[in-house]
Amino acid sequence: MSDVAKIIDGKAVAARVRQEVAVAVARLAEAGIVPCLHVVLVGEDPASQVYVRNKGKACEEVGIRGVTHRLSAETTEEELLALLAGLNADPDVDGILVQLPVPKHINSDKVIDALDPARDVDGFHPFSLGMLMSDRPGVEPCTPAGCIRLIDETGIDLKGLHAVVIGRSLIVGKPMAQLLLRRHATVTICHSRTTNLPEVVRSADVVVAAVGKPRMVKGDWIREGAVVIDVGVNRTEDGKLVGDVDFEAASQKASWITPVPGGVGPMTIAFLMRNTVIAACLRRGVVCPL
Ligand code: NAP
Repeated sequence: MSDVAKIIDGKAVAARVRQEVAVAVARLAEAGIVPCLHVVLVGEDPASQVYVRNKGKACEEVGIRGVTHRLSAETTEEELLALLAGLNADPDVDGILVQLPVPKHINSDKVIDALDPARDVDGFHPFSLGMLMSDRPGVEPCTPAGCIRLIDETGIDLKGLHAVVIGRSLIVGKPMAQLLLRRHATVTICHSRTTNLPEVVRSADVVVAAVGKPRMVKGDWIREGAVVIDVGVNRTEDGKLVGDVDFEAASQKASWITPVPGGVGPMTIAFLMRNTVIAACLRRGVVCPL
């Protein structure tokens, strides 16, 4: 058995990313550019309210101009699309993010399609995802990009390693696999129909779990010395926040592992700040200081 895994401290890494962004924002300010992010929240979902508040705080911390639009749960799809059209046309707006999920009477695909890809700082627009697949310049979806940074923090070179991603969502699993591929990993994507998942995971040098099932990935699925990135955020019946990985057991096998909370979570907002600066530079045709 290896020693207990080293913890990848997402809180500390995210603080460093925000610091890098703050330095870049200060450099842009010298050129008269203040990146501006608009966040749109429809309805009163409590988790979304917390995320939106935290995004506003992060903007303040790094010097990005943050504007939050809080719309009632009764807002119609037409009203939301009209707001987005106005933001798309505003030359001062660098990033637009609609907090998901939107209420059921609004079609989220239509909302994402309505965003100007140049301002799509989440990277969920089909154009942005196409650019990602084509390895062309653009923003990388925040959570997967944050995961790559966490792997980089271990000093491990992904080239030639076998990376197993569990989950194939557009928000996490698929773009994660693409970013790992970019780093020359050999990538396997698993999902709910994968047969013999434990065996597949046992062959991984790097495991990224993005499922949404508390502690589904067991300790004996983890190969000795593997790197484990746990994207899952799950609330147990006793109110505890846990990941998709059985942390206690997996940390007896892994070389590096992210905790939940304090692992991937803080990286997402830090990379949203980073993406806003990148989008501001790309749209204005200026060299990005990041
Ligand atoms: P999602 O859209 O629900 O996707 C879940 C994926 O897991 C699907 O591809 C699904 O397969 C797969 N899956 C479900 N059950 C499985 C099983 N038994 N075995 C193997 N695969 C299985 O979720 P998501 O948006 O990607 O999010 C995943 C988790 O990450 C959630 O806990 C979410 O809260 C968390 N998350 C965290 C952050 C962060 O900032 N930390 C950001 C985003 C998401 P099918 O495609 O076959 O259904």
